[in-house]
This record gives sequence, C-alpha cells and structure tokens, in this order.
Amino acid sequence: MHVLLATSELHPFSKTGGLADMVGSLAHSLADAGVQISVITPLYRGITSRFPSIKAAQWRFAVRLGNKQFEGQFFRLDPSPKLTVWFVQQDSFYDRAGLYSSSGLEYLDNASRFLFLTHAALILARHLPNPPKIIHSHDWQTGLLPLYLQHARAAGDWPTVPQSIFTLHNLAYQGSFPSTDWALTGLPTAWFHLESAQHFQRLNFLKAALTQSTAITTVSPNYAREILTPEYGCGLESLLIKRANDLTGILNGVDYSEWNTIANPALPASFTSDDLSGKALCKAAVQKELGLPIRQDLPLFTNITRLTDQKGSELILVALERLLLDVVPFQFALLGSGDPLLEQGYKSLATRFPTQVSARIGFDPALAHRLEAGSDFYLMPSRFEPCGLNQLYSLRYGSIPVVRATGGLHDSIIDPREDADRANGIKFHTYDHRALEQAIRKALAVWAEPSWIDHLRRNGMTADFSWKRQTTHYIALYNEVAQLKPATP
Ligand code: ADP
Repeated sequence: MHVLLATSELHPFSKTGGLADMVGSLAHSLADAGVQISVITPLYRGITSRFPSIKAAQWRFAVRLGNKQFEGQFFRLDPSPKLTVWFVQQDSFYDRAGLYSSSGLEYLDNASRFLFLTHAALILARHLPNPPKIIHSHDWQTGLLPLYLQHARAAGDWPTVPQSIFTLHNLAYQGSFPSTDWALTGLPTAWFHLESAQHFQRLNFLKAALTQSTAITTVSPNYAREILTPEYGCGLESLLIKRANDLTGILNGVDYSEWNTIANPALPASFTSDDLSGKALCKAAVQKELGLPIRQDLPLFTNITRLTDQKGSELILVALERLLLDVVPFQFALLGSGDPLLEQGYKSLATRFPTQVSARIGFDPALAHRLEAGSDFYLMPSRFEPCGLNQLYSLRYGSIPVVRATGGLHDSIIDPREDADRANGIKFHTYDHRALEQAIRKALAVWAEPSWIDHLRRNGMTADFSWKRQTTHYIALYNEVAQLKPATP
C-alpha cells in the first residue's frame, strides 16, 4: 500500500512543535514496517542548504488561488527505499523567517500558503506513477485535503480518488479565515456550508477535515475522549460527537534513535538506568552552561516549551515564585519562547533569583537534549495536552515528569497513588497554581527519599513508548480504510 502524508512541518527539516516530530517518526516507522510512504511538506527557508542531498525533481506546476496563478516546483529526497519526501518550493510563500509567523505576528496569507500546499499534494497524488491509496493529512494546514477529495469524487474526473485520514494534533488551532477566502479554494459556492468548512460565518480548515475525512485520529486515547466535551472541544464538540465512531486516539511514540542517552552527540556523557554517573555529569555541565551553581544535592526542574496558556506557563511562574519566596531549595531552568509577557516574566524571575532560576528564551533543540539529560524533574502542567512529547522524552532521560492529568499526559504518566509499583511520575488534577505548587512539593519530598527517586526513574527509563508499537495501529487503520467503498459526497 502507498500512503501520502501531508504536513506543514517535518522533523528534521522544519519544526515548531510535536507535529514535526510525530510525522517525521511515523513516516520512518511506517516505511520500516514495509508501507510505501510519500511525505509532502513545504520547502522552507534554509532547508536545501542544511540538507544538500535534496534535489529538484524537474517537476513544475501551477496553482490558481482566486484570481492569481502561482508557480511551484517539487524537490525530493529518498531517505530509504520505501520513503520519499516531496518538498514544495514556492519562494514567495515559504522562503520566510518563520513557518507560520514572524515577530509574533501570523502571516496574513496563511490561507493561501497552505492552500498551495494542499493543491501540490493533490497534483502529486494524481500524477505519481504509483498513486497513493490514502492521503493522511495533519492539522488545519492540510485540513482542506479531505474536502477536495470529496469534490473530486463528485466531479468523477479522477478514477481512483484516495481515501482520506486526518490526524488532529491540536484542536485549539483551527485555521479560521474570513469567509471571503473561500474564493481562493476554487470550489463551488454550494460546497461552503455548515456540514463542510463553514463555522460561525468563517472558513474553517479544521472543520473541513473533521466533516469530510473518512477516518479521524488524534494523538492520545484520553484526548480523543476529552474533545467530545465542551471543556476541551473548542466549539467543535457536537461535530466530534457525531463522528465519534470514526475517531480513534493513538498515543504518539518516541524516536529512540534520536532521544537516546547512550552515545548521543548532543550530550556530554552517556548514562543508563543501571549507571547514572553520566547523568550527574550531564547535570553539572548544564548547570555550568546556564550559570547556575553546580549542586548535585539540589533537584533541578526543567521545562522546554512554547510559552502559551496551553502549556501552563503562567502556573509555573506563580508556583515557582511562591516556592522561591518560601526559600525552598531547588533549581529551575526554562527553555522556551512565545508570549512576550511570559518571556518577560521568566526573565525577571531569573534576574531576581539568579542562583536558582535560569531562563533561556529561544528555540534550541540541542539544549533541549542537554536539559532533559541534566534535570531531575520535568514540569508539564498543561491546561490541555493532545499527547505531549516532552514527558515521554523526560521518562527516557531520567527526568521525572510532574504533570497535570490531561490528554496524553494522563495516558502516559502513572502517579504512585494510582499504582505504586508502576509509578513513573507525579500527577495533579486541578488547573491552578496551588495544585502545581503542591505537586512540586511532593516532588521535593520524593527527592528526599533516594529509593523513591530510583524507583520512579527506573520505571520511566525502562518504559517502551517506541513508535514500533504505535505504528501497528496506523497500519491497521490504513488497511481498514483502504477496503472501504468510497463514500458518496
Ligand atoms: P507542542 O507540539 O504542543 O508544542 P509537544 O510536547 O508535543 O508540544 O512537542 C514539543 C516539541 O518541541 C518537543 O520536541 C520539544 O522538545 C520541542 N520544543 C518546544 N519548545 C522548544 C524550544 N524552545 N527549544 C527546543 N525545542 C523545543
């Protein structure tokens, strides 16, 4: 079977968050399992100079968006016999400083930018010599693909229209644009209605995917249940309830060839659950790098994140300040960027408590590895968390997760009160800074009991969240969907 994955970011070529990691790992894992995989993604600024083996495919095409025509070209890379990555070059859209925004401002033409990617995916799917049976798209940026496939089915000019699968990585980002942007799609006006892409008088890319795709997945079983409720459904819960039979939650996996504590070039020393001496070296090195006192006796907490309300970044600020004013002994290191007010809040905390707090504002994947390896606890008090990857990376790196029981965090972290034998972290429930502060105090109590630290750490480091297991769920879904008769639009 041949499956085309469509994504707006793809590790290691482009990344703002977990979407890139997920599609990058899933593509490799599916190809390793014998599925023929093509991935389509934009050719953003700097990709060809960082990856010189990416070559122009001598395949040019044109796309009409509204009354303007845009030229594009495919580039390709074949990382393995079963895997081809197709990059879409269109410099006026993708040769920019950021993927979706720069200086905190969303690009005003994001509807056009990702419609162009959508059209490129359709062109590829129609004209590849071995056409895909399934187009698996991800998040709002490629959310209109299932709608175009339905339209092609109705038009009858494409004998083997692929089936569509859509993976929802975050319901909070919907790709909502003025309804006048419908004209850019080139689809008939009659196709713009409440059962397709129309939502509150606007064009909503995500809604198009949720109404039109053959199957929907999201990135954890618990998030798949949560999004059926008003608290987590972001206004789309009624629609999701209608589609509940077609919705599956599959927890993301970890690429352990990259997130690995042995002979990892990003780390100053190797370590395992049986020999943590290298972890102590990693801790001393990262404390030195960040200008914190080198103290093995103090627990080092960390958080690597987009600074947003979703991630509980404000809760951390308030809880830490209360603990610091209470002269509680610990260290904390942040790596993150996002909301300017939150950036300022962390910088100011680091200035006021320089021996206990470090704040690095920016996006630095290598430092993310060093922090996971050097820290003792990982804070993840998310308001909502579709899957979350950092708690999974932390488990492998022996940094005990302290999480709010939501989404994939609830699925992957076990608190001692739930199951003392299998416990691998600390969990709290209420989204407020007092609950987080209490959870951090619990972590400090655990820190004082070395046998508990060893127990939680060992359970975490030896847990298997590899992609291999999760990939079997996607293959089963592909097989199921490929056998379905195309739905009539
Ligand atoms: P989300 O996709 O919601 O941002 P995830 O936990 O699923 O959250 O994935 C986040 C990914 O992005 C992880 O690989 C994490 O290490 C990485 N990341 C987030 N912020 C930074 C940063 N400032 N520097 C380096 N990596 C980061």
